Formats: sequence, structure tokens, C-alpha cells
Amino acid sequence: MSTPTTDLARLRTQVHGALIDLLQERTAESRSRVLGAGNDDLEAGRHFLRILSDGGYMAPSWPVEHGGMGLDAAYSDVVREVLAGFETPDLYPWMVGIDLIGPTILAHGSTEQQSRWLDRIRTGQEIWCQLFSEPDAGSDLANVKARAVAEGDVWRLNGSKVWSSRAHYSDWGLLLARTDGSVPKHRGITAFGLDMRQPGVTVRPLRQMNGDAHFNEVFFDDVELPDGDRIGAPGEGWRVAITCLSHERGALAGGLGVSLHQLRALGRDPGMIGEPVRRDRLARSVAALEVLGWSASRALEHRRLGGQPGAEGSLAKLGTNAMIRDLAALGLEAEGPAATVTAEPGPAGLDEWQSMWMVSPSLSIRGGTDEVQRNIVGERVLGLPPEPRVDKDRPFDERPDR
Ligand SMILES: Cc1cc2nc3c(=O)[nH]c(=O)nc-3n(C[C@H](O)[C@H](O)[C@H](O)COP(=O)(O)OP(=O)(O)OC[C@H]3O[C@@H](n4cnc5c(N)ncnc54)[C@H](O)[C@@H]3O)c2cc1C
Repeated sequence: MSTPTTDLARLRTQVHGALIDLLQERTAESRSRVLGAGNDDLEAGRHFLRILSDGGYMAPSWPVEHGGMGLDAAYSDVVREVLAGFETPDLYPWMVGIDLIGPTILAHGSTEQQSRWLDRIRTGQEIWCQLFSEPDAGSDLANVKARAVAEGDVWRLNGSKVWSSRAHYSDWGLLLARTDGSVPKHRGITAFGLDMRQPGVTVRPLRQMNGDAHFNEVFFDDVELPDGDRIGAPGEGWRVAITCLSHERGALAGGLGVSLHQLRALGRDPGMIGEPVRRDRLARSVAALEVLGWSASRALEHRRLGGQPGAEGSLAKLGTNAMIRDLAALGLEAEGPAATVTAEPGPAGLDEWQSMWMVSPSLSIRGGTDEVQRNIVGERVLGLPPEPRVDKDRPFDERPDR
């Protein structure tokens, strides 16, 4: 009888065998970009997703009827690991759809919505963005003020969002809007799929310190939302948001695709040889990566046994952020003065350590800040007293800042 370990090994061999015919394996010279800092080459990503669209490799945990492989967490992780051994273009514009929003639609979308949206997300035909944050709703996300008002079988939307990653490429957005101000803030939010190309939606890119225009402000002026694009029941949007955020924390944790292969290559860099202190720091990063991998396996096992994602996602995200910051600093030190010049101007000219360094501060903000993750760990793991939350039970429209 086969054991889970032999099953995993067999899956690894099988997926590797299938991918080797389609893709090119990574070598010591391969360079990676961390969270897509600055690559706007959408065609390369589309082409890659088209090549992989038949096997379900990009969405191994999705059900087979939606083009996935129907694998549980431990098995789908193996597929991702094998995939990481191959050359991959910048897939960041698609990952919000594939890793965050697809699983959210699977959990909360209707059967009709799943058939309409999932296949186009998985195969790269449509890009989705996350329309959650607003100027006054970041860490306190339940404070969203963009309003959708029911008018017959449509909803009329007004308001704005900010920090919407890659919204300027997006065909659709997963939107949180306030639909009921008479109840406390968490209970009056509804989630929708929003067609980004319709009249009344204005997207304005924001340029950041690495030269990339990664995210945007999005404005809604009398936008009409069909009720058929509502995801989940009216007033149940907070549950939809939590599902999406737990997938986001998962995607932003566990080492963010940094591989032992990459760390070994850094160890062989001339800037590391004969540098015992730097080699010590590299060893600490290797240990941190291993620990993150074990923590991720433990969290997967917990979910496989029916548990809900919990504070372990926050711990893993904090650990990943710290490791990436340390590693980026080390990579730049190893490069020496060369770290101050780029192959060409702009984000596309950054090498992997430069782009990791430029992206690393954002990791402590996106998907919930480090402080917010520490609050979660303090309250749910250490049992510390919760923060005072004065507006939690008060109807939203009675708040002075509504
Ligand atoms: C690269 C990047 C991509 C992003 N992409 C998206 C996206 O696609 N879609 C989207 O909707 N949003 C996106 N965001 C927004 C992100 O989710 C928010 O920036 C984040 O939740 C923090 O909110 P804020 O910026 O409003 O900061 P605030 O919430 O205003 O926080 C300001 C500071 O106060 C601290 N703070 C706030 N509350 C507490 C508290 N209770 N206890 C202790 N400290 C606290 C914070 O830690 C932070 O240091 C992105 C952000 C970044 C950096």
C-alpha cells in the first residue's frame, strides 16, 4: 500500500515529467523577480499560462471541473514546488486572481459565477484585482465607505479605493462596498465582482520609489452593478473578505518563493567567500527558510484535518518579511559597489537582490501590516487582552466619521 510520502514523491515525478516537455528548467544563472517588481510584459505571462492551461498546474487545489487538479493542500504544494524549478515570467498580475480571488469565488460564488469567471482567471484570459482598501479603510478594513445602493435588480456604486494592485490591467475587481449603514460596520458590507471596463470606473496609477506603478486609485461614479455579480448574500461581504485575506496571507508567507537553490547560489558568490560573518547570516536565512517551510507544512496539515486558517498565517507572514529583509540586505552587500548600479534604468534593470530590497518594505504593509499581524498573534496566540474597539457594535451611520 502506498504511503502519503510515496504518493507525494510519485506526484513530484509525474508533474516534473509533464512540465519538462513544456517549460525550461531554472539554472544557476536564472534570475527571479520578487512579487513582480516592475515587469509589465503581460504577453509573456499570458503565453506561459496558456501553455499550462490544460494540466491544471497553476491551480492544483481547484476542483477538476474548474480546470484544477483537485488536490488537497499538501499535494498542491508539491506541484507549486516543482513549478518553481522552471523558468517563469512575472506572473504577479494574475496571482491575485489565481491565488486569492479564485479560491474566494470557489468558497462564496454561485455555480453560475464559478462557471463564468474561474476558467478565464486560471487560463490568464482575465486579470482580477482586489478592491478592498480605501483612504480610511486599510488596517481597519471594515470601515469601507464606498456605497452601493439597491435600485431594482442593480446596485448603484459611488466612492473610491486605493492601493489596488495592477488595477490598470484588470478586467475585473473583487469589490467590498457598504450596502447597509444601519448595522455595525462588519455587518453592512457586500462583496461584488466589478467589471473594470464599464463607464464610471476611473483608474489612476500611483508611481512608487522603485519606479514601478504597481498600484492605483480607483474612482466609482454612479457605476451600475448587476445583482448577478454580487458574491455571497447582502451584508455577508466581511466573510468574503476574510476568506480572501487568509489566502493572501498564505500567499505572502512561507518564504515567498525564495529557494534553497537561490541561497546556495548566493553562498558561491565571490562576495560571500572568505566572509565568515556574511556566511553566518546566510546560514541564519537558510534556517529561517527551513523553519518557515515546516510551519507552512504544519498549517497545511491543520487545514487538511478540517481546521480553519488561524494566527499561524500571521506568524508565517512576520517570519517571511524578516527573512526577506535580511536576505535582500545580504545579497546587496555581497554584490558590493555593483549593487548601486542597474543593468538599465527603471525597475526592469534591477537584479534579483536589488528588486528584493526595493520590494521588501512593502511586505510589511500589504495583506495586513506587521503591527496588525502582531496584534493577531498577541490576542489569539498569547492570550493578551484585546485592543479597545469602541465602534464595533455601533451602527455605521451613527459614527461621527462615517
Ligand atoms: C504593495 C502593496 C500592495 C497592495 N495591494 C492592495 C490591493 O491590491 N488591494 C487593496 O485593497 N489594498 C492593497 N494594499 C493596501 C494594504 O492592504 C494597506 O496598505 C494595509 O492594509 C495598511 O493600511 P493603510 O495603508 O491604510 O495603513 P493604516 O491602516 O493607516 O496604518 C498606518 C500605520 O498604523 C499602524 N496601525 C494601524 N492600526 C493599528 C493597530 N490597530 N495597532 C497597531 N498599529 C496599527 C499600521 O501598522 C501602520 O504602520 C496594498 C499595499 C501595498 C503596500
